[in-house]
Amino acid sequence: MKNFDFVVVGGGIIGMTTARELAIRGANVALIEKGELGKEASWAAGGILSSMRPWTENSSSAELSEHGKLHYPSFIEALINEAGIDPEYVKSGLVIIEAEHVNDINHWARSKCIKVIEKMENLHANITLPDQVILLPEIAQIRPPRLLTALRESLKKLSVSLYENTTINKFVISAGRCEKVEYKGGELSAESVIITAGAWSKCVLGDKCIDMNIKPIHGQMICVKPIESVLQTIILDGGHYLIPRQDGHVLIGSTMEDIGFNKETTMTAQQELQSWAVTVWPTLKNATLVKHWSGLRPSTDTEKPFIGSVPNFKNLYFNTGHFRKGILQGPSSALLLADMFAGDSSFMEIDEFSLNRQTNSAEIA
Ligand SMILES: Cc1cc2nc3c(=O)[nH]c(=O)nc-3n(C[C@H](O)[C@H](O)[C@H](O)COP(=O)(O)OP(=O)(O)OC[C@H]3O[C@@H](n4cnc5c(N)ncnc54)[C@H](O)[C@@H]3O)c2cc1C
Repeated sequence: MKNFDFVVVGGGIIGMTTARELAIRGANVALIEKGELGKEASWAAGGILSSMRPWTENSSSAELSEHGKLHYPSFIEALINEAGIDPEYVKSGLVIIEAEHVNDINHWARSKCIKVIEKMENLHANITLPDQVILLPEIAQIRPPRLLTALRESLKKLSVSLYENTTINKFVISAGRCEKVEYKGGELSAESVIITAGAWSKCVLGDKCIDMNIKPIHGQMICVKPIESVLQTIILDGGHYLIPRQDGHVLIGSTMEDIGFNKETTMTAQQELQSWAVTVWPTLKNATLVKHWSGLRPSTDTEKPFIGSVPNFKNLYFNTGHFRKGILQGPSSALLLADMFAGDSSFMEIDEFSLNRQTNSAEIA
């Protein structure tokens, strides 16, 4: 049996950043992924480094998002040095079309000293915006597939043991301690086991699910190649958005579907996304469809992730439930958890994200 300081279960952005942060601090870490690293929700994401409606975010989630925004440039710089792969962090700015909430957005931005531009020149003659929009010029984006490829390289350089395509058969639990993790072909033990399995986190331990309010919310997205590259800024309109990439492609997202563990892409969703996009950018009707994909966001009832220990266990922890903000909040969540293990004070209280917040007795059901 191989022994580690930490076994991390689930290799999306959250598992990979968690494993990286612990390994940087000298821990011996194994990361177990049932498929390929970073190919589920994290791969599907648009990579906007902002909440969809930041002015409505609850305070602890907002604090985590804010830290994410500030931390990203140094995180990306370190990652490029480690991996030699550029995830294309670009401060492209974000235009919010929510005429009825302009006052709320302004009020929120002023209270946070966030720079906004209310009256903006037309982005381009071919982009149709309502009179009242708000531009947040500091918002950035990254390309998730490139970010995940860079993280994979970084983990290899940091000597994290990567177990891909590895199905866990059993967590052996005795007296509230996870003694070992058995998989086909071997077993691992660790001082601490961290569940980072995204939408699958609730029942990762097997037949006994943990009482946590987490479920998959299906999101579909398309990528098109417009006939002209005229857009530099992200445009957000309710749940829909356009993300212009540096290579001229444009992502159009996204749907929100509460349909269980179903990742099917549908023509209905494609049409919904295309019809919304042409209301903003009419010539997109002539754009070539390049790709259509989907992912399962790990959603929680309070739109806050769960980070910390699992009640009634001595060595089991979570970092999951980041819903629409896992790319933005992932590196900061990893820092928060790693600081907890090191006994260091962190940039905020980890208790804000405890499993205990949903019930006072989150137990194995
Ligand atoms: C369409 C779409 C657009 C999005 N856009 C953005 C955005 O612009 N900005 C942003 O910040 N966020 C965005 N998100 C949200 C973001 O993608 C998620 O919050 C984030 O990817 C969650 O990361 P994760 O690591 O928890 O989950 P995942 O990436 O799903 O990773 C979980 C991993 O755990 C593995 N796993 C599951 N069970 C087991 C098991 N038993 N054993 C081993 N491994 C297991 C899975 O195979 C998977 O690889 C978007 C999501 C979608 C779907």
